Amino acid sequence: MSLQSWVYSFEEGNAGMRTLLGGKGANLAEMTRVGLPVPPGFTITTEACRAFFRAGNRISGELQLQMREAVTRLEEKKGQRLGDPADPLLVSVRSGSVDSMPGMMDTILNLGLNDETVKGLAAGTGNDRFAYDCYRRLIQMFGQVVLGIESIRFERLLRRLKRELGVEQDQEVSAEGWLQLIGEYKGCVKAFSGIDFPQDVHEQLTLATEAVFKSWHNQRAQVYRKINRIPDEQGTAVNVQSMVFGNKGDDCGTGVVFTRNPSTGERALFGEYLTNAQGEDVVAGVRTPQSIATLKDVMPRVYEELSELCGRLELHYADMQDIEFTVERGELYVLQTRGGKRNAQAALRIAVDLASEGVVSREEALMRIEVSHLEQLLHRGIDEDAAGEAIASGLPASPGAAVGMAVFDADTAAAWGQAGKPVILVRAETTPEDIHGVLAAEGVLTSRGGMTSHAAVVARGMGKPCVCGCEEMRIDPEQRQATAAGRTIAEGDWLTLDGTSGSIYAGRIPLKEAAVTDELQQVLRWADDVRRLRVYANADTPADAGIARGFGAEGIGLCRTEHMFFAPERLTVMQAMIMADSREERLAALALLLPMQQADFEGLFREMDGLPVTIRLLDPPLHEFLPHAGELQQKLQAAETEEEQEQLRRMIRKVHALHEANPMLGQRGCRLGIVYPEIYDMQAEAVFRAAAACIGGGISVHPEIMIPLVGDASELSLLRERVDRAADSVLGEAGKIACGYKIGTMIEVPRAALTADRIAVHADFFSFGTNDLTQMTYGYSRDDAEGGFLSHYLEQKLLPHNPFQVLDPDGVGQLIEWAAMKGRSRKPGLKTGICGEHGGDKDSIAFCHRAGLDYVSCSPYRIPMARIAAAQAAI
Ligand code: PEP
Ligand code: MG
Repeated sequence: MSLQSWVYSFEEGNAGMRTLLGGKGANLAEMTRVGLPVPPGFTITTEACRAFFRAGNRISGELQLQMREAVTRLEEKKGQRLGDPADPLLVSVRSGSVDSMPGMMDTILNLGLNDETVKGLAAGTGNDRFAYDCYRRLIQMFGQVVLGIESIRFERLLRRLKRELGVEQDQEVSAEGWLQLIGEYKGCVKAFSGIDFPQDVHEQLTLATEAVFKSWHNQRAQVYRKINRIPDEQGTAVNVQSMVFGNKGDDCGTGVVFTRNPSTGERALFGEYLTNAQGEDVVAGVRTPQSIATLKDVMPRVYEELSELCGRLELHYADMQDIEFTVERGELYVLQTRGGKRNAQAALRIAVDLASEGVVSREEALMRIEVSHLEQLLHRGIDEDAAGEAIASGLPASPGAAVGMAVFDADTAAAWGQAGKPVILVRAETTPEDIHGVLAAEGVLTSRGGMTSHAAVVARGMGKPCVCGCEEMRIDPEQRQATAAGRTIAEGDWLTLDGTSGSIYAGRIPLKEAAVTDELQQVLRWADDVRRLRVYANADTPADAGIARGFGAEGIGLCRTEHMFFAPERLTVMQAMIMADSREERLAALALLLPMQQADFEGLFREMDGLPVTIRLLDPPLHEFLPHAGELQQKLQAAETEEEQEQLRRMIRKVHALHEANPMLGQRGCRLGIVYPEIYDMQAEAVFRAAAACIGGGISVHPEIMIPLVGDASELSLLRERVDRAADSVLGEAGKIACGYKIGTMIEVPRAALTADRIAVHADFFSFGTNDLTQMTYGYSRDDAEGGFLSHYLEQKLLPHNPFQVLDPDGVGQLIEWAAMKGRSRKPGLKTGICGEHGGDKDSIAFCHRAGLDYVSCSPYRIPMARIAAAQAAI
């Protein structure tokens, strides 16, 4: 007996063996175990795949042997032999990774056919046409997948044949036609790969297995893994399964069914099928399939059986399933089941419904929600009033509305997207090779294919709006244009699509924001019951604060006060303050800014009545408030009066004086407050005056004043004293009690993290500014790295993620853990949180939970997502 099993027949596995057998293999095994009609087969493990890679892409003798044994067992079960000229066993060879990667890797069907066995298949089924159709499909798939021949080579030959025969549809091609094509396909294989199409069926199986293993490394699979954060080293399993045929005649068919609607979550079978077809015809979107509801009339018994089976599978897996089935001569077979991909709206409804039906617990329901998709729900729809006439409509494949410029190939979409242009990818149909274009596009539009076509599945997975099967639109990729309703859309023309209704509009239609649905409210309430982290918002204006509160913010974790100075009428006063030559002049300008700031803070306190509002004192280097020297020089050339010229010359001198070689490490943050204490004094006074006014109006205020960019305890000690003094003078003792303000600091400089115990002496709270902390820990400029070397680092996989998006747990995270621990050791009640961009990223939120922080703060629209991510971290 061999030491290690590389191969498991379906009877030997179960759903718990996903890591070893891949998702598809584990599910096939599980369905076999519970007695569902699954065609028998076996799975070659992900471990075998990794061993294959380690051995330099070679199948070991041992694996070879185990595959032979598995084939023999399969032959016994089926009563057929692989390669038997009289009654050949045929198999499919498919990939099956641990995490579902739909359409990203390769598949070969009808394996086992050769010049001899095809005759046996023809005789056995009494259907020559069917047998030769299977054989030509095998040669094409084998040629593409195993031998790397471009699909267009085969497609051209097929098109030519149909032209010669004067037919349009594949089904109209006769047995003789297919026979002729087989000869031509074999010639094509020889011409483009240099080898003959293998007649040895065992060699076919070995080569196909190798090709499926290798497809783990193809470009589209790599891109998909990157987007979905799937580890590269996992590898894929290979499933070898005996074939059943959906293309033997009109009592045959194949289809895909979801146990609930993947767009709305409605509890009803949803899917499509094609009569007399093989599975790839449905998935590739080449023929537009029929709705599953019509199967009820065409094959009522099969429909009954399928409904019953869907119910059983959904209950068994306690989740909505996506099921591939085939009907052969009226017999139903299940080829695959998996958790169905769904959009945000459907995911929420299904989660709520499954929990209400008692199929899953609330916690399980919460864990099923893909938080990144929630953004889709919280985003846009078409403004119906402004929409006008649609020029075409198709299937509403993935909801949400998108506006962009039409492009007709994926490379252009990617290039324009990178240049910052919003694009709509318009294709007859998409293939997995288009994934980079889909990724770059605002939305996707296809003229062919159904709700389960590649474009629909991928767009839904990415949460992108998509309209499919828009047959009224004629798309001409060569001319780079599309026509519909007598209108021509050229490349670069604006297009608006509504993936919720399926409508397409010419031009740019205004979009409107989406509302929070009842299901979302329900799930958020469940999330609030289990999460420990509080969720605050980064908001600078009362309007943002209002939106944030509507989404459930429990406070403001970061108000960047500098954003209040950029309004045109304020900028001139701010510039006057910066230009001041004396303290008196500066104080005069600050006196003008004071009432403006006070009004801003009053607005925030009102919106956040009863909740904490964290106000960060001025942070950026002052030159950011002045125009560029070049711009000023130009103005100087054009200036007419002596006075104007002098003013501009002064400003240019100031810009030069403020110039720093490295402003992000220069005079900014608390360093400004130390050099120009009157700026922070004014801001603190404005906060406390606003607090006093609001308290007087019956509002409960909780200001938390935050000092940025501290690196040494002495900085905080000094500035804290000044803020306290401002509170004394504005509020007095009684007012201070009513206000209950806090003073804290951002931890953004590694030294602050390392010396957190000393800093905590002067702080009521720490807020980790992970944008700067990441910048300074890595030594990567946050303004330049992402457009520069960082993309190379990510491409070469030197880093697992962009550390400005996903918090680096090993380095930056270690500093956070250390600082929180040291801070609390000195001050047990110290409040801790995070307010960098990472506060809205689910993995980073999970880290904050593990690190024991008290809150995360993120942009208003991400709050619902953060509430759910915080709950998932706690479950
Ligand atoms: C930070 O550095 O993480 C932060 C929140 O501050 P800013 O992005 O304004 O520098
Ligand atoms: Mg910062």
